[in-house]
Amino acid sequence: MSPIPQDPASTGVVFHHFGVVPVINACGIYTDLGGSRLSPRVWAAMTETNRHFVRMTDLLDRTGERIAGLLGAEAARVTPGAAAAIMLGTAACMAGTDGSRSQQLPNTHGMKSEVLIQAGHRYKYDRQTIMTGATLIEIGSANGARVDQYEAAITERSAMILHPAHLDGKPGTLSLEQVSAIARRRGVPILVDAAYMNYPTDIMGAYLGRGADLVAISAKYFGGPNAGGFIMGRKDLVAAVTNVHFTRYESGQYLKYGRPLKMDRQIVVAVAVALEEWLAMDHEARFANYVRQVGLLKEKLTGLRGLSLVPMNFTMDERLIPEPVNCLLVGFDKAGFGLSAAEAAEALKNGMPSIMTVLEGDKLAIVMDVLEDDEVGLIGDRIRTLARG
Ligand SMILES: *Cc1c(COP(=O)(O)O)cnc(C)c1O
Repeated sequence: MSPIPQDPASTGVVFHHFGVVPVINACGIYTDLGGSRLSPRVWAAMTETNRHFVRMTDLLDRTGERIAGLLGAEAARVTPGAAAAIMLGTAACMAGTDGSRSQQLPNTHGMKSEVLIQAGHRYKYDRQTIMTGATLIEIGSANGARVDQYEAAITERSAMILHPAHLDGKPGTLSLEQVSAIARRRGVPILVDAAYMNYPTDIMGAYLGRGADLVAISAKYFGGPNAGGFIMGRKDLVAAVTNVHFTRYESGQYLKYGRPLKMDRQIVVAVAVALEEWLAMDHEARFANYVRQVGLLKEKLTGLRGLSLVPMNFTMDERLIPEPVNCLLVGFDKAGFGLSAAEAAEALKNGMPSIMTVLEGDKLAIVMDVLEDDEVGLIGDRIRTLARG
């Protein structure tokens, strides 16, 4: 199918200027599609921040205190995302608050430099740890790990344990509580990657009570900037994060480790404001709005042959479960509709604006997480135009 030449949603004027195709994002929150949509309040805070300068150390200290206060942590610091939080947290556990060590990294000579992870917990973002110069040590096998294996893996070289929250409780692996019981005796800090663990909102702070020493959270999942996030936890360890963070590279005594992970003041403010907004938000109303939008789309598609329409939940770890509804799962019967789901996905993707959906076998998930009503309507109209006859 050839691209539709006009842009019915009148979106993406700036994108057209650069010859870039604007996207209607029916996939949810993905870094490759630009993260989330910033709310008017977050955007206004960024605009205001743009008018004034600030001492970045001051801004990072105060926003960190605010975030820590909101989540019941001893301390926190905004970072350019959760991946950066893992990287900075690892560097912090090696360098401590020693400026010369911050400057020495990624050469880890003379430092504890091993990061431990259960083999069954290996995942995409664990490589952020080795980018600091650390060595990643696997415990057990992909089938699981035992307490005695964990005990044996901890040595005087152990700098940190990485424990991904979304894999906690995976069959065969040791839970955060079990790992914490071992690590605490041996004095090795645990960093929990809880990047998308933000709902119900009280789970965000809960990992600290369950044994985490540091927790990495991504702002992209709570309506903050794609290049935002934070790390929170023990005061001494967050002070060590400050020691490897980007500030005072030009003005301080040391060429600090984290200088390439620098942040704009607007982003720092946006992370803190988006978190405040997320914690104060009526999440029942947020889910009710998804249900309403799914209804809008269903209405648009009703009467088309060869489609099945089932409201579902598309989870942050990309599974389809029944509740709470945030997407419409559209099944395509090629004989009836004229296109398979894969062909429909390709046609939607190649239109203008491009519509990105989640292909699940013979079905397409249309995820409402970052869609506006006019976009939902446009998706419905576009699917109608694809239908046979
Ligand atoms: C997205 C994600 C990250 C990285 O977060 P950024 O804020 O994009 O750097 C880390 N861990 C998990 C589990 C994620 O889903």
